[in-house]
Amino acid sequence: MLFSELAAYFDSIENISSRLEMSTILAEMLSKAEEKEIGMVIYLSQGALGPRHKALEVGIGEGLLEQGIAKATGYTKDEVAKLYKQMGDLGLVAEKLVEGRKQGSLFSEKLTIAKVFGNFVKIAQAGGKGSQDSKLGMFAELLNSASKVEARYIARVPLGNLRLGVGDPTLMDALALNYLDEFTENKKTRKAIEKGLKEKNEEKRKEEFRLRARQGLREVIEAKYNIFSDLGAIAEKLKAKGLRGLDEIDMMPGAPIRPTLAERLPSAEEIVKKLGKCAVETKYDGFRLAMHKNGNEVTIFSRQSENMTEMFPDLVEAVRKQIKARKAIFEGEALAYSEETQQYFPFQVTIQRKRKYDIAKKAEEFPLRLFAFDIMYLDGKNLMARPFRERRQILGKIIGKGEAIALTKSIETDSPEKINQFFLESIESGLEGIIAKDLNSPYIAGARKFAWIKLKRSYKGELSDSVDVTIIGYFKGRGKRTQFGLGGLLTAVYDRESDTFKSVAKIGTGMSEEMLSELESKLSKTSVKQRPSRVDSEIEPHIWVEPLYVIEVRADEITRSPMHTAGRDKGGTGYALRFPRMIKFREKRPEESTTVEEIIAMYRKQPSVQVEGTVAES
Ligand code: AMP
Repeated sequence: MLFSELAAYFDSIENISSRLEMSTILAEMLSKAEEKEIGMVIYLSQGALGPRHKALEVGIGEGLLEQGIAKATGYTKDEVAKLYKQMGDLGLVAEKLVEGRKQGSLFSEKLTIAKVFGNFVKIAQAGGKGSQDSKLGMFAELLNSASKVEARYIARVPLGNLRLGVGDPTLMDALALNYLDEFTENKKTRKAIEKGLKEKNEEKRKEEFRLRARQGLREVIEAKYNIFSDLGAIAEKLKAKGLRGLDEIDMMPGAPIRPTLAERLPSAEEIVKKLGKCAVETKYDGFRLAMHKNGNEVTIFSRQSENMTEMFPDLVEAVRKQIKARKAIFEGEALAYSEETQQYFPFQVTIQRKRKYDIAKKAEEFPLRLFAFDIMYLDGKNLMARPFRERRQILGKIIGKGEAIALTKSIETDSPEKINQFFLESIESGLEGIIAKDLNSPYIAGARKFAWIKLKRSYKGELSDSVDVTIIGYFKGRGKRTQFGLGGLLTAVYDRESDTFKSVAKIGTGMSEEMLSELESKLSKTSVKQRPSRVDSEIEPHIWVEPLYVIEVRADEITRSPMHTAGRDKGGTGYALRFPRMIKFREKRPEESTTVEEIIAMYRKQPSVQVEGTVAES
């Protein structure tokens, strides 16, 4: 497949907003790709050079990118920079400038996907003296041979975002579309789908059959993705062997598993009503890490599946020393701990351990402790289907002597009073609250299904829990905030059914000056001209951004609102956060934001709301 064909597909995807249409075009694009290139096609659509946990950074920042565009087109760097200021997107700048290329390309070849991908991999791997020049050379070589549309996407690759509005769920939908026939050839599968059909009319029945089959296959693919986060590799297997190829995919140390997510309930009574006797654990306020051990080799992943191994040499050592297993995948929450005061440091201190420099120094200053809470894999065995109680027992057995890794503090009970007491104890020791766990539940990768229920610290007069929202746009600063280029945020919650982000709050408070500049620098790189296709909002921010960043927000309450699209009913009234304040960035994927369903449930649980549809008193 030529890169020009791929770029043409990207171009049509960028210009549509219907999800169904988008997955149909993606499906066609994926069916055209050969086995050896389908992985590259998937990664490029995600703006990356590999799966998240292994992806190389291209390592060309904006400045170098401007230089590269100048080199390939014959314009000066200042001219490029000026145009960038006007257009706000280096992809569009490259597209415009290659058209008026001042220097004829010396030799231009038809770009293949392998050539483009290969050059970027080489650029990413280039290091040492003189590497800047060779990076520029390889980048300019691509632009030299590129048409306008090709140039737009080539220039966007180093920025890590092609601005297509394509998320993992849509890519999985597209893959499912391509293997529907094979999926429904299987008699058992066909019968199972037919059993659930409701439509009587034959045409409509066919349509319903297709829809259900698509959802069914998408779930099958997603179940694999949940335990092996590499869509490129999954697509390759499918291409090579059809659906049978999926059987070859299983969890293994070194390949991240998507994390279980916690639901929320407002009280210990409701938790007991839902789970009966359950495990209740301290909820530590640090960051979640998945530890993968394969012999002496240890890999650590964040909850976003990023490889964090380099950052935590103390925990790598601790795993080698304490974990009594050849191979294991387990999870825990890491916290900085003060030996002197025998207390946990607050989150603001723990977070300092997430750094690329001075790692050893900080590791000594703020050593981490890992509170382990689940295990998914042990010495070749997938443990995910085992009940939680059993997994915890296994986990307890493999943690050997040492200080750094320990089990989370936990009790088993069906008494709300005991839960409340445990909750208060954990708050008093400066921790966040509790998480109750269903003793019989399997490990549910990548989803929330009441296997875990959190109950967090409540503040008087405020919503008892914070919400995690995705930023979908921002407003330019006025007055004192002009200097930051950002004064407020437009944010959204996630609607699982439609895989879209629905607006729920405009946020203008809670941000320190530092946060404002960090927000501006992150968001300006992901700005887009139009509302992204996965975003549903009637409020127009000054600048739309790709839904990528998640922040934690506190609010006084949830109210009904005609302005916001979250949970809109037929009368056009949605839900909004009242007096929202930003707390911090969250290490979450946008699809892991609070959902519309949760917002509605939280609204109903508010003391002032008794009857569905009544407006909360302010
Ligand atoms: P939240 O991010 O507020 O939805 O809460 C879930 C997060 O709490 C998990 O992703 C973990 O990072 C963290 N956590 C802290 N303590 C525990 C625990 N004992 N069990 C599970 N998760 C925990």
